[in-house]
Amino acid sequence: MVEEIAPQCSAKGCRATATWQLHWNNPKIHTPERRKTWLACDDHRPTLGSFLDARGFLREVTPFIAPESAAVS
Ligand SMILES: [Zn+2]
Repeated sequence: MVEEIAPQCSAKGCRATATWQLHWNNPKIHTPERRKTWLACDDHRPTLGSFLDARGFLREVTPFIAPESAAVS
């Protein structure tokens, strides 16, 4: 299942335009190839990144450029 997402930071209460995509996976509930995606603005990339990294979930951080191509699964 793929759905469109607004190009907006995923941090709680933040309405900033996203500039980063954080790809993550929770091994307890996701198969290894599954990727969840969070969007982050410049301010929240470290916050969201360290949140995921501390749990061992963070797989990849990539620049977020084209909203049309953004998809969350
Ligand atoms: Zn933000």
